[in-house]
Amino acid sequence: MTPVIALVGRPNVGKSTIFNQMTHSRDALVADLPGLTRDRKYGEGHYEGRKFIVIDTGGLTGDEVGLDAEMARHSMQAVDEADIVLFIVDGRAGLTAGDQMIADHLRRTGKKAHLVVNKTDGQDPDIATADFYSLGFESTFQTAAAHNRGIKSMLEVLLPEP
Ligand code: GDP
Ligand code: MG
Repeated sequence: MTPVIALVGRPNVGKSTIFNQMTHSRDALVADLPGLTRDRKYGEGHYEGRKFIVIDTGGLTGDEVGLDAEMARHSMQAVDEADIVLFIVDGRAGLTAGDQMIADHLRRTGKKAHLVVNKTDGQDPDIATADFYSLGFESTFQTAAAHNRGIKSMLEVLLPEP
């Protein structure tokens, strides 16, 4: 069975950039405008002969009303559909209340999620990551998706050898 990876997190943390790196496409809209990817977007990726499906989502703000509610619904559907849930956070912005609410939300689904601290470029990745320790994730990855750093080593851990 092809593993399905869901990318969830606040708008603007770099989910679509990670999606594009994983699928080698420029399909997912990457923009400074938060919340641009409003529904789910599916892509196929390959790593060392291992195929996977990745789902990009519009993002959760933690304060889900109106359009946010619609994005949240898609995000949680993506979590449902996934074998592997990646919770992406912004290593530049540091921990926000929205991140905390999403972490609570994910915990309630009972599905194990991995924390991905993105935008670690231009700073000490371990210091950037330390800000998120309080969320209590056992499994943490560090990426700089805009520079294609950390994505392959993350897939190496996430995708079992065939
Ligand atoms: P999304 O809303 O979570 O899908 O975020 P996007 O992928 O659209 O990225 C939002 C912004 O962050 C864009 O301007 C990206 O170029 C930028 N970005 C994404 N990843 C990184 C990164 O690793 N480092 C830096 N410095 N910027 C990034
Ligand atoms: Mg996006």
